[in-house]
Amino acid sequence: MIDPFGRHITYLRVSVTDRCDFRCVYCMTEDMTFLPKAEILTLEELDRLCGAFVRLGVRKLRLTGGEPLVRRNVMSLVRALSRHLESDALDELTLTTNGSQLAKYAIELAALGVRRVNVSLDTLDTAKFAAITRWGRFDQVRDGIAAAKAAGLAVKINTVALKGVNDDEFDDLVAWCGAEGFDLTFIEVMPMGEVGGDTRVEQYLPLSVVRARLNRRWTLADTDERSGGPARYARVAETGGRIGFITPLTHNFCESCNRVRVTCTGTLYMCLGQEDAADLRAPLRAGDDDAALEAAIHAAIARKPKGHDFVIDRRHTRPAVARHMSVTGG
Ligand code: SAM
Repeated sequence: MIDPFGRHITYLRVSVTDRCDFRCVYCMTEDMTFLPKAEILTLEELDRLCGAFVRLGVRKLRLTGGEPLVRRNVMSLVRALSRHLESDALDELTLTTNGSQLAKYAIELAALGVRRVNVSLDTLDTAKFAAITRWGRFDQVRDGIAAAKAAGLAVKINTVALKGVNDDEFDDLVAWCGAEGFDLTFIEVMPMGEVGGDTRVEQYLPLSVVRARLNRRWTLADTDERSGGPARYARVAETGGRIGFITPLTHNFCESCNRVRVTCTGTLYMCLGQEDAADLRAPLRAGDDDAALEAAIHAAIARKPKGHDFVIDRRHTRPAVARHMSVTGG
């Protein structure tokens, strides 16, 4: 699959549920309404959909959500998808998780060929963790991360930089990740979905500021490593660890975009920051023949936009993109 700008689409992110056991303040409202079951693809449909993308050239699959590990029986999907690792059709099967269920699943994930997990963690402080996630428990996530490490999974911590919330902890996070052997990626808060009030405008912290602060304590050396994703990386001389910076608002990272995202209802988004989408559920449910599905995927890739234009400013308080991150999974 090659889009109109010559980019090879080799990476699919699949949101397997819109539900989550946390209610992070910048991501969801506390009283989110979730989708009715009939609209959500079954695990078998998700498997078939992923299979079509793999046939069309996707080499990397990431399960996300909502919280992927709270979807009932999700491991049967991981097991089904792992056959593409065995056949070498897929280079990587991975997931992005809040870590709450990792203690339960880490060993099985590793056994099924998952090598790395991204765990979202914005703070190491128990009280702050509860305030940010509303419903989350820090100890549970810390234990989940430890279980992932013990199972041999490489862990990358994703931290959303939040002004006045976790901006006094960046050094601690760098030190902790360095000591544990985890990569760490900082992310700017993005204007996606209504979360009430001006929370995100108040909390927005450009990563240029984060980086300047880190420079006071750490020796950061830029690397030209790319993971095929939007992060730019630096090595921390003192820990040997790697830090990534994802800056959708201060830096446009679209030129090398190799990815598309499908929601748990089978809606394909060609860009995280644009509304255009293609319905893959109808061709999927129309019959057992994948020809219509593959044609719909090709037609969508031909419409992949050049990039997004997120803006956070006080004059435009509406989100740039109406859907929540929990729909497309980030
Ligand atoms: N539940 C999983 C998790 O916590 O990683 C996967 C889904 S979650 C929506 C994926 C990532 O998106 C998390 O790292 C979360 O912090 C981030 N996120 C959610 N809303 C965001 C926003 N408005 N701006 C930036 N990142 C956001």
